[in-house]
Amino acid sequence: MATAISSALAFGACGAPEMRVEPERIVLVTIDTLRADHLPFFGYPIDTAPFLTSLADRSINFTKAFSHSATTGPSHSSLFTSLYPLQHRVQNNGQRLDDGFVTLSEALADRGFETAAFVSGGALFGDSNIAQGFATYETPRMTTRNDNGNLIRYQSANRTTDAAIRWLQTGAADGKFFLWVHYFDPHNPLRPPQQHLDQVTPAPGEATTRHRAFLTDEQEIVAARPRFELIERYDAEIRFMDEHLGRLYEAFAPLGLDSNTLWVITADHGQGLGTHKWWGHHRYIYNEQIRVPLIFHFSDADALGVEPRTVDDALAEHVDVPVTIMDLLGGTLDGQRGQVQGRSLTPLIFAGAEADVDRRAYAFSERRRIFQDFSDDHPEAGERYALQDFQHKYLWSSLGADELYDIAADPYETRNLIDVAPQARVRMKQTIERIVAALDSNEEAEIVDEATLEQLRSLGYVR
Ligand SMILES: [Zn+2]
Repeated sequence: MATAISSALAFGACGAPEMRVEPERIVLVTIDTLRADHLPFFGYPIDTAPFLTSLADRSINFTKAFSHSATTGPSHSSLFTSLYPLQHRVQNNGQRLDDGFVTLSEALADRGFETAAFVSGGALFGDSNIAQGFATYETPRMTTRNDNGNLIRYQSANRTTDAAIRWLQTGAADGKFFLWVHYFDPHNPLRPPQQHLDQVTPAPGEATTRHRAFLTDEQEIVAARPRFELIERYDAEIRFMDEHLGRLYEAFAPLGLDSNTLWVITADHGQGLGTHKWWGHHRYIYNEQIRVPLIFHFSDADALGVEPRTVDDALAEHVDVPVTIMDLLGGTLDGQRGQVQGRSLTPLIFAGAEADVDRRAYAFSERRRIFQDFSDDHPEAGERYALQDFQHKYLWSSLGADELYDIAADPYETRNLIDVAPQARVRMKQTIERIVAALDSNEEAEIVDEATLEQLRSLGYVR
């Protein structure tokens, strides 16, 4: 049954009134490998996501949001713990999130939320221990051959949506619940239905020429032989996922679940698609890899006084998500092992565009030890950290040279200013080194079992 909106006017520490909302239903959607700038509301000229675009229009849409890693396991671990990978130590796929960390699902279960997860693939199976706190944790049973002929276990958005809707219909969802749905479609292998491919492929001739010019000139695809056909399939997978995400959303109203519901929608990381001469993810932390959509959608926005808007003047990080959800419930991630890095986005959600609220000064991401058998002198073997504000982005590297970009003028990070912008260089380098010194515990997370490692090898994550 739908219940009345539950909200209360409370007073924050500074004495300013602030709205507290207590959503009874919280839906977190993570879309694997969804690059933000392939969405229409990030300026992409193809309609890859009609549902998400219409939802973003009715939501608080953070357009300067970043993940902490371009790798599934570390990224989701931060999204659930509000800790950086340096702290929770899941720095590669195939590592296990320790039981000692408090996850968002555990915190919500403690508050009486029924918890359920529907996971489509990748590095999030039970042994990743992302499952902690979930009473229901469904993963795909089917295996399929990927483009290299290896068997991988994943499922498409239609099946994941079906499974989530079945759970909503069982009655487990009658009270308060936290539902996490993970979609995998924009990840390899890219095998969209023809219908969705037709929906995103420009007409031959001038439209195709214009779109390819956009990809190479605006999105800085510098590969010698751009794989445009692969990009069309990638866009079609987004379109397919978008249709089934829309179907999940539409399933709530007939079940009486469409009031007092909060939706949070994001991606775990992006994809190279030829920018920086790289087609996948996992290896780099340029912004095509870590800039992600982040949408907070309230079913009762009008009644709550939440005015839908695009927030492009504040940075947001994945670690902010659990803190914001708990803040809306009047709580925190109690008992977390390690210093919580998230800041509540609640003031930005409720205060409106003109509000003078405390904002995050930077966003921080990392890439460590991606392939375990790289020798120490391999350029990809070392650690990389990225720090960015609205103007600059600094890439710190333990092996090889550091990089500095003016991302306001050069958003695709093509002109390295490390030798010509000494003030930004010194300031940002020192900040990175301070963060790392404060947070790096040098512990290693446990490696998962051999069967899981074999799956990760098939996906290209472990060599
Ligand atoms: Zn991923």
